Amino acid sequence: MSLKFSVGDLTIQRVIEQETTFLPALELLPGLSPEVLAENRAWMQAAKALDDQDTLILCFQSYVVRTPHHTILVDSCIGNDKPRPLRPKWNMKTDDTYLSGLAAAGVSVDDIDFVMCTHLHVDHVGWNTRLQNGRWVPTFPKARYVFAKTEFDYWTEQNAKAPVPPFVDSVLPVVEARRHEVVTNDHQIGDHVRILPTPGHTPGHVAFTFGRGKDDAVFSGDLMHSPIQTLYPEMSVKFDVDQAQAAKTRRSFLERYCDTDTLCCTAHFPSPSVGKIRRKGNGFVCVGV
Ligand SMILES: [Zn+2]
Repeated sequence: MSLKFSVGDLTIQRVIEQETTFLPALELLPGLSPEVLAENRAWMQAAKALDDQDTLILCFQSYVVRTPHHTILVDSCIGNDKPRPLRPKWNMKTDDTYLSGLAAAGVSVDDIDFVMCTHLHVDHVGWNTRLQNGRWVPTFPKARYVFAKTEFDYWTEQNAKAPVPPFVDSVLPVVEARRHEVVTNDHQIGDHVRILPTPGHTPGHVAFTFGRGKDDAVFSGDLMHSPIQTLYPEMSVKFDVDQAQAAKTRRSFLERYCDTDTLCCTAHFPSPSVGKIRRKGNGFVCVGV
């Protein structure tokens, strides 16, 4: 399984925390019918995107991207010691899979210059912080944490109505430590890193494009969760806050990168998770490289 990709002057490494069954396909994808599932079962099982109970298999991972100037972590997965009672596989985890994966990628927590979150859901902010002497502290002490303003404002508002645990334990401690930057969508880091607004899954969801002067790689976050959504871009997941907007964003994203050389680095597709977008029928496929 390939964990490392080179494109342009970038090096991209995957750090996998879990690759495991998640939810039944028919539950996560309300627009998926049993008939369409049956038509797609064989290739999805072969791709290890689906198990023999029709449960979707998702990868939960971060990407470490080295530009000539910076080492950047895209999304920070699930995290340890976090109370997530509704998700047994994520609840009060204590394993060292993630941190040893980071070490295997040749980076220490001190090496990360920026942490960038595509959105502020529980499985994308977890390792922003870790528990130290009973307090949540930034896991990456030297990093600036980049949050998109629309997304940050949305969760600030939600959290004011009722506490949102991942915001409380994995975002606010970063703010208290003054390691955060809340940025608008025209923000860039050097000449290598840009933001592509991709709303729908959450109101302020963004993708990140990397490359000098062109998109050598794009990190798509949760604008799609399973490869069946490239074939049927109109299929949203039940967690998409605005399902119609998510569907529109998905198709325009796939159209934008279709038949280009841009490496599409997905958050949750099964390994290898990374590929190039190609047209197939009325939809698309992400072809592994
Ligand atoms: Zn996710």
